[in-house]
Amino acid sequence: MMIGGWQIVALRDARGPFLDWAAGFPDAGEREWASARAADPAAFGADGKWWLDFRAYAIRAADGRVTLVDAGIGPATAPARAWAPVPGRLPEAMAEAGIDPADVGTVVLTHLHTDHCGWAVDPDGTPVFPNARYVVQHAETKWLAAAEPMYSWAVRPLRDAGQLDEITGESVVLRTSSGESVTLVPTPGHTPGHQSVIVQSGDAQLIVTGDVLVHAVQLVAPSVSYVYEEDQRQARDTRTNLLARARDAGAVLATPHLSEPFTVL
Ligand SMILES: [Zn+2]
Repeated sequence: MMIGGWQIVALRDARGPFLDWAAGFPDAGEREWASARAADPAAFGADGKWWLDFRAYAIRAADGRVTLVDAGIGPATAPARAWAPVPGRLPEAMAEAGIDPADVGTVVLTHLHTDHCGWAVDPDGTPVFPNARYVVQHAETKWLAAAEPMYSWAVRPLRDAGQLDEITGESVVLRTSSGESVTLVPTPGHTPGHQSVIVQSGDAQLIVTGDVLVHAVQLVAPSVSYVYEEDQRQARDTRTNLLARARDAGAVLATPHLSEPFTVL
């Protein structure tokens, strides 16, 4: 997908079944489910399970600089193994797209759930992307208890390596000489320090949402909550606002968990 001079590459780390869909979104009604099924039929497994992709995105600038948004479920021993179909294949997907880990200048971690940081570091704690600063909201690292597996897997090693950049609020990651930009915006609710990424070129815009919405049912009905949102009310407000903003801007959505990588509203 091109947005002006930006190339946005969808990188599928894995696909697999998770919860029974009705259990994940208990306040969705028949009408919402019918719309969601029409929007993303592949999410509804014959086994009654919610089938989902686990996806990262690379944003490649015309000069070759790469910003990676999220880092997948990770290898077989990563913390996501408790529930996600590890091992992922993000390194292979990046190689297929012609992206060398050394080309990545920035890794944006939308949040610190285990399915978004698995490939941030090797199992021995070495950062996978040697030249990258890893950008996360300070509110997110503050929220993540030191006892959580993702703390010892990624946060502490990245901090020790001097590669973790803990920011607060909106922040421009890249701006080109022609005024194109990649900007981080706080989108709390799913987790306290969740952030999304706005890719802008003139009037053209793409939003890498992160987990502001995790299923098509939240695209067709933003008021529908997901059971694993830390603050469901805040998540609902964030989702409603971000989707309204996307509609106003005619933005393309890039979502980690829907079956199609790009959604044009
Ligand atoms: Zn997720």
